[in-house]
Amino acid sequence: MDIPALADGVLAGERRALARAITLVESGRADHRAQAADLLAACAVPGREALRLGLSGTPGVGKSTFIEAFGMMLVDAGLRVAVLAVDPSSTRTGGSILGDKTRMERLARAPGAYIRPSPSQTHLGGIARRTREAVSLCEAAGFDVVLIETVGVGQSETVVAEVSDVFVLLLAPGGGDELQGVKRGIMEAADLILINKADGAMVAAAERTRADYAGALRLMRRRAQDPQGFPKALCVSALDGAGLAAAWDEMRALADWRRAEGHWQDRRAAQARHWFEEEVRQGLVALLRSDAGARARMADLGRAVAEGRTAPAAAAAEVVARFRTAAGG
Ligand code: GDP
Repeated sequence: MDIPALADGVLAGERRALARAITLVESGRADHRAQAADLLAACAVPGREALRLGLSGTPGVGKSTFIEAFGMMLVDAGLRVAVLAVDPSSTRTGGSILGDKTRMERLARAPGAYIRPSPSQTHLGGIARRTREAVSLCEAAGFDVVLIETVGVGQSETVVAEVSDVFVLLLAPGGGDELQGVKRGIMEAADLILINKADGAMVAAAERTRADYAGALRLMRRRAQDPQGFPKALCVSALDGAGLAAAWDEMRALADWRRAEGHWQDRRAAQARHWFEEEVRQGLVALLRSDAGARARMADLGRAVAEGRTAPAAAAAEVVARFRTAAGG
């Protein structure tokens, strides 16, 4: 594969090149990994910075409807928008390429937009890397906004929170005061909670839900990276467009404030450090697994731990000691 040419295509904002580039970073093959590393290095030009917008919400809450309407609003305002779905398609009803694109039909056809279908087979460990690298490729391709969407299965919402500059949680009007089983961690990661479907007969219920969440958010410790009033809860309707412009204003206000205060760069720096350490950890584990002797010993120790013959920490220490010997340290 001609990596310099592919990088040129990505940097020129060509969708086909971008699609091929993302396919390359999704591959788990060792030779592809090496090419992907070269590609990412060639695409790392300074000055290209998108607003990375994470969006999480359970199935049926209206994510596709929201992304379609919100994305079109941004495209109509002259912005270029990329949409990445994080979850393996097995977690979706529609699944695969057609699924994602028919979910957002107008946006998929808009010249200023690019929708990347969720990969058909991504093991959870691969999702984080694939997402992170796809985001930086979209950024290199000159998109103004990269929307990263997840249904929040497994660790995927943590992954999204850890690649985004602004993280949005989409909820539906709930009956009464229970908080829809939202995980605490995800509430804490949210910068903006949007109560969708605030239209027709559901306006009042949406407003009650919004007030409940606004109350819950006020009880949480204020983060240093937040201006006064954030995180916020707002009502929107992806169906009739109500509140979408206001939500965008809030996202921009937050992003601008973080930029001005230095939190934007701090956040990205912390994310980069996190991903670096994550790669080292995964790399070491892969190295360990690539050795047949180590693999066999780990299987033995795994059994010993499961049967209660050895304590997990002691077994792990043995594996690590073995690794240290192998590494000559
Ligand atoms: P997703 O699974 O989160 O992507 O949800 P969808 O976007 O597919 O929406 C699920 C259902 O909710 C569909 O029937 C939508 O038409 C409906 N829906 C989405 N947004 C709204 C909204 O703002 N108002 C109303 N009334 N229905 C909505």
